[in-house]
Amino acid sequence: MTTVLVFLDHPGASLAKGERELLSLAGSLGDVAVALADDAEQTYLDGVGSYGVGECYRPDTEVSGVLVAGKAAFLAEAARTAAADVVLLGNSYEAKEIAARAGIRLEAGVVTDVVSLDGDLVATKADFAGSYTVDCRVTTERAILTVKPNSVDAAEAGTPQAPREIRVPVGELAPAARITGRVDKPVSGRPELTEARVIVAGGRGVDGDFGPLEELADALGGAVGASRAATDAGWIEHSAQVGQTGKTVAPQLYVSVGISGAVQQRAGMQTSKVIVAINKDADSPVFEIADFGIVGDLFSVLPQATEEIRKRGL
Ligand SMILES: Cc1cc2nc3c(=O)[nH]c(=O)nc-3n(C[C@H](O)[C@H](O)[C@H](O)COP(=O)(O)OP(=O)(O)OC[C@H]3O[C@@H](n4cnc5c(N)ncnc54)[C@H](O)[C@@H]3O)c2cc1C
Repeated sequence: MTTVLVFLDHPGASLAKGERELLSLAGSLGDVAVALADDAEQTYLDGVGSYGVGECYRPDTEVSGVLVAGKAAFLAEAARTAAADVVLLGNSYEAKEIAARAGIRLEAGVVTDVVSLDGDLVATKADFAGSYTVDCRVTTERAILTVKPNSVDAAEAGTPQAPREIRVPVGELAPAARITGRVDKPVSGRPELTEARVIVAGGRGVDGDFGPLEELADALGGAVGASRAATDAGWIEHSAQVGQTGKTVAPQLYVSVGISGAVQQRAGMQTSKVIVAINKDADSPVFEIADFGIVGDLFSVLPQATEEIRKRGL
């Protein structure tokens, strides 16, 4: 039987959507254990147990205060102790770095940006800024995979129960840098960009006014993203940037508004399930990757779309 170890970072009061997706994917592959880097509340542990998780591996020392090296050392040790065949992580920059460092420690192959994974561990991912879709499988005994949010449907949780806790020795950490403080991000009420099922993203075409995009995003229960031109202009925070040097997203619906569709923007959103582009230039390259295109002025198109969606109560 395959043993799958899921790495869970930054536990909150309850499981985040992306964590439920990872646990569901793991459950479809074999027996599931988790490696939990931080302390967690009982409700969170009960939630983990409700996905059929038997063991919860924890570090015997604090690893979250030293950037990623401590977490990678812990994950590698947990994978050895659990005799895990597969290790699954989320797809944040931090998770990818932890995966890479743990891969070196375990001499295990690593695949990042996975959007689907079958029972034979063949992973599908987009490469070269989204120009190619690749199927790949690691050739080492142990596989480490980072999986994009929204790639699998989260299964329904079962009965809440606490998994058995096992402490693993991390060894001495001699970090070159230590985290000295953390500041919570202000709560916007909108979903986290990388986890949102719907994203409305704006570019230079919005000309500094994200209002109509926020209205549409709120009508659809989505998040607001942006091109680098918009974040560089200071119209929206940098954390909203989608693309090669921003976030990689794969929502069910990506509405691209006033964005030309440069290759660096595509790199971060091309694996979205459905792409709708709104642009006043019919020759804009964004229409090459759009499933649906609307040629028109965004300040005229967006309010109409939002009104219609509200009217239909979607
Ligand atoms: C190393 C490197 C990394 C980069 N990383 C990223 C990245 O991570 N993410 C990213 O996005 N970019 C990135 N870029 C920048 C990228 O190359 C493009 O410059 C950028 O994506 C352009 O942003 P834009 O589409 O918003 O602007 P533009 O290319 O100027 O396009 C604006 C679009 O808005 C349309 N428009 C204007 N007014 C309206 C209107 N009223 N209604 C409807 N449409 C309208 C125009 O027709 C045009 O198509 C990177 C570049 C480099 C060199």
